[in-house]
Amino acid sequence: MKRSNAMNETFDFIILGTGHNALVLQAYLSRCGLRTLALDRADVPGGGLSTIENPRLSGFHHNPHSFFHRAITAMPWYRDLELARHGVRYVEPELNVAMILPDGRTLEWWTDVEKTEASFAEFSKKDARSLRRWVDEFRPIVEQILIPEAQSPPLEPSRRRELLSRSKSGRRLLEVSALSPLDFVTREFEHDAIRAGLLFFNGLREVDLRLKGFGHAIPALLASPAKAQMCIGGSAALARGLIADITEHGGQMRCGLEIRQILIRAGRAAGVELATGEQITAHGGVVSGLNPQQTFLQLLPTDAVPGRVREQAAQFRYNLLAPLFALHLALDEPPRYSAAGGRPELANAFMVILGLERFQQFHEVVRAHECGEIPPPVAWGACPTLFDPSQAPPGKHTAFLWEKVPYSLRGDPLNWEKEKQVHGRALLESWRQYASNLHDSTVLDRFVLTPLDTEQTLPNMAMGDLLVGSFDGNQIGYNRPFAGAGRYRTPVNGLYLCGGATHPGGNITGLCGYNAAAVIAADLAVKQWWNPPIIEDVLTAVPS
Ligand SMILES: Cc1cc2nc3c(=O)[nH]c(=O)nc-3n(C[C@H](O)[C@H](O)[C@H](O)COP(=O)(O)OP(=O)(O)OC[C@H]3O[C@@H](n4cnc5c(N)ncnc54)[C@H](O)[C@@H]3O)c2cc1C
Repeated sequence: MKRSNAMNETFDFIILGTGHNALVLQAYLSRCGLRTLALDRADVPGGGLSTIENPRLSGFHHNPHSFFHRAITAMPWYRDLELARHGVRYVEPELNVAMILPDGRTLEWWTDVEKTEASFAEFSKKDARSLRRWVDEFRPIVEQILIPEAQSPPLEPSRRRELLSRSKSGRRLLEVSALSPLDFVTREFEHDAIRAGLLFFNGLREVDLRLKGFGHAIPALLASPAKAQMCIGGSAALARGLIADITEHGGQMRCGLEIRQILIRAGRAAGVELATGEQITAHGGVVSGLNPQQTFLQLLPTDAVPGRVREQAAQFRYNLLAPLFALHLALDEPPRYSAAGGRPELANAFMVILGLERFQQFHEVVRAHECGEIPPPVAWGACPTLFDPSQAPPGKHTAFLWEKVPYSLRGDPLNWEKEKQVHGRALLESWRQYASNLHDSTVLDRFVLTPLDTEQTLPNMAMGDLLVGSFDGNQIGYNRPFAGAGRYRTPVNGLYLCGGATHPGGNITGLCGYNAAAVIAADLAVKQWWNPPIIEDVLTAVPS
């Protein structure tokens, strides 16, 4: 068995996976002067930050995983890691979300709240007033509490409650949180389409809308100053920027390999063994960007993990409603929505939601998921090339549509292999009902991706759960992924977590990696060159 390190080097930390959280963490640790090596099974680093060139049509680029990146340019790591200097650029289109109803009416969310309010008023003046009231009331809550909380290791729940109870904003947050998003929407808004839009919009963040404890999620999204953005050059351009910073500070990366196990020496995580038998050691420890089952059950020797922890890892749950079916198109021209006839602004809408008009559809979607059936079509997507022509040849376009579908189709995820082409055609047909120019001569190429494809490409997204674990079952904050591993440290000495299975959860936020880096720097007593918020101080300072 080989015992040498890669290129005979020694490392301080080995990082498992090169998802964006792992990359953010690696960049911070590398800037601390620590020697880091990240390992990934994929051939290309970046995980959910992926952009691929169409193998059949050169020059067309598609983003098979994440595309809508929320508030990236406002993230502390975007600034700290000088991503603008590394060439990363984002746009935040003004008509941020447009929900086109089957009858052609549209409900619009703009970066300018007054325009959003005007759009709501076309459906219900009362709801427009309610929107404005919640935006005004929740803006300080978002800025003073929710953003700093996401950017910090989570507090122990009773301590958090105690601190929040001291301020007016904190008490209001606790009060609204006690509701479920479903309760919140039915209590505060009256129009069927607005209720449907708000629930769906919130569902994009994948909180279970029936869960008490998440009533703040919708007003927080509405009041959040930063909206959906896209990365110029495709989502992979963000990964390239992070990698540029890591490389500049001496961090290393190896891809296209299989990790056999995490090595335990003298009771500590001390490195990894690859499937080839090569062993790579690290003085400081190992940071896993993978899910709890991969980390604790597949990669650690059984006797290195206490039985209780193995049970907790085995019980980690995934989202029923998160898996997506995707239809990607290479186009001769952008989708032209018939609704744009009376609303020219729709030609520049960023996220477009189709097929949604009634509040009850939410229940139909949930029911279909519970039965393993494909729900009635409700889909959302974008035409990236409207905002970034570099993703297609001159004058040409790409577009995609996503739909929430069950992972286990009629009881078996393998059924997707038989069903996917048929379903892709059906989804294109539904799309055409809104954009009739999507016919055979404008659609130059198309392909589909299913929840099974997601899991096979990114196995940490078990059951196609793109959020790497649900928020129910108390899998949030201090208890994410499970009690005892919720502050990025784990019950195994020298082993840390940094992926979407940790606080604040999945999606492209980079904050799991950002927070984990602060915890590791504190444990090593290395000088922190950045200034993360100290959440106790921040919550104490909220005006009472
Ligand atoms: C179809 C789809 C659409 C999405 N759209 C959006 C969106 O618009 N906006 C948004 O914010 N989020 C979106 N997401 C979710 C987002 O991509 C994820 O939540 C996010 O990428 C999770 O980041 P991460 O850092 O945990 O790691 P990931 O990005 O999941 O990366 C994990 C890495 O670990 C590697 N890995 C896995 N298993 C192993 C192993 N055994 N050994 C070695 N390496 C391993 C993988 O190859 C991968 O590189 C989408 C996801 C999907 C699938």
